[in-house]
Amino acid sequence: MFVSQSGTAWAVQEIPTPEDYFGFEMGTERKLANWTNLTGFYEQLAKTSGRVKVDTLGTTTVGHPFIMVTVTSEENQGRLDELHGIQMKLADPRTITGTTELEELYEKGKTVVLITHQIHATEVGGAQTAARLLHRLASSDSEKVKEILDNVILVDIPSLNPDGTEWVANWYMESVGTEMEGGPMPWLYHYYVGHDNNRDWYAFTQKETEMTVLGAHNQWHPHIVHDIHQMGGGGARIMFPPYIDPIEHNVDPGLVTAVNMLGSYMAAEVTAQGKKGVVTSAIYDGFSPARSYQHYHGGARILSETASARMATSVEIAPETIGGGREYDAATASANYPDPWRGGVWGLPDIVEYMDAGAMALLTNAAKNRRYWLENFYKVNYRAVKGWPEWPEAWVIPAKQENKSGLAYVLRILRMGDVEVYETNVPVKGDGKTFPAGSFVVPMQQPYASFAQTLLEVQHYPDLREFRGGPPKRPYDVTAHTLPLLMNVDAVPLDDLQVPLEALIAGGAIPTPSFDFQLPEEFKGDQAPRIGLYKSAQEPMEGGWTRWMFDQHVLQYDTLKDKRARKGALVEDYDVIVFQDQSKESIENGYRKGTVPDSYAGGLGEEGVVALEAFVREGGRVVAIEESTEFIIQLLGLKVSNTVARIDPASFYVPGSILEVDLEEESPLARGLGNSVNAWYWGSSRAFDVSEPEATVAARYGRGNPLRSGWLLGPEHLAGKAAVVEVSVGKGSVVLIGFQPNYRAQSVATWPLLFNAMMPENSRRPATEEENKK
Ligand SMILES: [Zn+2]
Repeated sequence: MFVSQSGTAWAVQEIPTPEDYFGFEMGTERKLANWTNLTGFYEQLAKTSGRVKVDTLGTTTVGHPFIMVTVTSEENQGRLDELHGIQMKLADPRTITGTTELEELYEKGKTVVLITHQIHATEVGGAQTAARLLHRLASSDSEKVKEILDNVILVDIPSLNPDGTEWVANWYMESVGTEMEGGPMPWLYHYYVGHDNNRDWYAFTQKETEMTVLGAHNQWHPHIVHDIHQMGGGGARIMFPPYIDPIEHNVDPGLVTAVNMLGSYMAAEVTAQGKKGVVTSAIYDGFSPARSYQHYHGGARILSETASARMATSVEIAPETIGGGREYDAATASANYPDPWRGGVWGLPDIVEYMDAGAMALLTNAAKNRRYWLENFYKVNYRAVKGWPEWPEAWVIPAKQENKSGLAYVLRILRMGDVEVYETNVPVKGDGKTFPAGSFVVPMQQPYASFAQTLLEVQHYPDLREFRGGPPKRPYDVTAHTLPLLMNVDAVPLDDLQVPLEALIAGGAIPTPSFDFQLPEEFKGDQAPRIGLYKSAQEPMEGGWTRWMFDQHVLQYDTLKDKRARKGALVEDYDVIVFQDQSKESIENGYRKGTVPDSYAGGLGEEGVVALEAFVREGGRVVAIEESTEFIIQLLGLKVSNTVARIDPASFYVPGSILEVDLEEESPLARGLGNSVNAWYWGSSRAFDVSEPEATVAARYGRGNPLRSGWLLGPEHLAGKAAVVEVSVGKGSVVLIGFQPNYRAQSVATWPLLFNAMMPENSRRPATEEENKK
C-alpha cells in the first residue's frame, strides 16, 4: 500500500503487460501502438517497477515528449549517482589517481548500454520492440534478466523520432483494411529531414539529435550503443556487424574489435535459437561519423537491420526471388551467412521477434563480459588522452574568420561532441606560424580527440573496386566530412608548439555551443523577395534541409504546394521559386492515384507546369538545384545539358565529396565569395555544357583535379565544366545549380551562393523603364 498526497490509500499497482495496456501484444500482425500510447505505457512502468526510471529530455520538433528510460536492478537504481560517477571517471583517465583506484572502478562499475529505436519511422518494428523489451526487464525474475539487471545499466531511447512514430502508426492504422494498407505516408517522417535524421550525428542540427547527444551519450558515455533499424525485405532477415570496409581510421582498434566481437556474438545467439537468415560482415561500412557518434566517444556501435514487411502487414516472399546482396548472396550459404532464409511469409511478429532476440543477446554479452567492457572503454580513452602518434599536438582555429556562421557552427559541433576547446588569451606559435590571442585551441591529448581529428582533417577515401580495374565499390554513405572545407573555416594542425599547451589553455574561455546564422540584409523587411520553396507530397529530403536552414535564418518564405501552383498567376505571390533536388517525373506527377489518398496524389500537373513557365516569362525567377535542373531545362527548352549524365561509373564517380568550384568574380551570384568555393558534389549533382545564347556561367568546377576531400574518379569529366548557370528567359530568369548548395545543412560555404541566387535583382537582365518607374 502507499498513500497519495490527498491521503487516499492505493494498492500498489502491478506492472502492466503491453497486452493489458494496449489491448494487443507488441508485434501483433496489423497492430501498431503510437507514441502517445507508448509514452503512457513507459510512465506506467516507471510508476510500478523500481527498476525503471523515465526522464523527459525535452520536446521534439513538433512538440511530442522525448523520453529516455533507464533500467537496471532496484539496487543499482538506488545508487545510480555513484555508478554514474564511476563511469565518468573511466571516461576520463586523467581523473584516476592510480591502479588501486582503477581496480576499484573496474570492480564496482556496470556496463552501460544505450539502445535506440526507430529513428526511421517507417521501420515500425523498433518502437514496438522497445515496449516488449522494457516490460520484460521491468518485470521478469528469470536468471537471464537478473544477470542483465545486476551488471548492466540500460539507457533506452524508445523512439529517436517520436513525431514519426506517432504519424506513421496513426497513418498505418487508418489504412488497415483499405486498398492503401501499408502504403507510403506522403510527407517526410521527420518534420525537416526525413530519412536523413540518422546522418546528423556530428552536425547535431535537429532537436532529437541534440537531446540524445546531450541527454544520453554525453551523460553516460555508454560502452555499447545499439541502434535498431530495418532494411529491405528481399534477402537476409537480420544483419549484425562486423561492418565491411572501409572503417574510418580514427576509430580506435579496440572499438573496431569490440564491435566485431559483439556483432558476431549476437549473430551466434540468434542463430542458436533457430532463427534463419542472420548475416554479418555485409552491406554496411564503418566510414562516416555522421552515423556513428560513439565510435569517437569510446563506445562500440552496433547497428542491426531487420528485414521489413509492408509496415505491420505481412508479405510473402517467393523463394525464387531471393538472391544477391552486398558482400553476401542471399541464396547461398556462406561463412558470413551460414543459414539462409528461404522465403515465405514475413511480418511484424517476425520483425519484433528478431529485434528482441538481438537486443537480448547484446544485453547478455554486456552482462557476462562486464569487466571486459569496462577495461576496453578505459583503454580506448587512455590512448586518446595520451594522444595518437598520427595526431597533431593541437588544432588551432584562428580568431577573426570571415565566415561567422561557419566558425560558430564548427565550435558548436566540437563542444557538443564533448571536445575540449579553449579560446586562448595569448598568441599561438608553432610550425613557424603565429595566430593571435582569441584563437581557439583544441589540444589533441583528450578523451574525444578522435572526434575532432576526423572532422577537422581531410578525408582520403580509399580507391575500392569490385575487382581489379572494375567499377568502384559503392560506399554506404558519403566519403567526406571535413568541416573546415564545408563551413569555410580555417583550422590548422600544429606539431611544434612554442608555448606549452598548458600555458595556451590556462584561463582560456570555453566557447558556448550556439549557432550564429546571418540572414543577408536583402532578405529583411518589405523589399525582401517573396520566396516560394516548392514542396510536393514527395518532398525530397534536401527540400526539408532547406526549410530547416531557412527557418534557422528566420527567412520569410512560403512553401509552394502543387494545389497553389496549378491555380496559376504565380507572379502575384512570388518573386522567386526554388526547386530542390527532385526529378522531373516526381515534380510533374507526384504520387500515382490509388497509392495515397486523393488529396496527396499528383504533382504540378499540366496546369502547374504551364503556370510555372508563365511565371518565368512574366518576370519571375526560378532557382533549380541538381536533378530539378533537368525539369527546368526541358520546360523552357534551354540549350544546357548535363555532361556527366551517361558516363560509366568505372570512369566517373563521385559518391559524396567536397570539390573546388571556380567563381566568375563579376557574377552577382558569386558576391561575397571571392574567386572559388568548396562545394558538395554527389550522385545527383550535375556538370553543364552550355550553348544557350542567353546563358552566363557563374561557376565552373576547378581545372585539374577539383577534389578537396573524399573520393573522385575521372576528374577530367568535371574539370572546367559549368557548375552554376544563369539564363534569361522572357522577362524572367532561371539559375541552375549543379551541386548541392545546402548539403544536410552543413555546406555553409555555399549558402551565400544560394542566397545570391534567390535575389531577383541579381538577374543579368537590366530593369525595364517601366520597372524603374515603380
Ligand atoms: Zn533505418
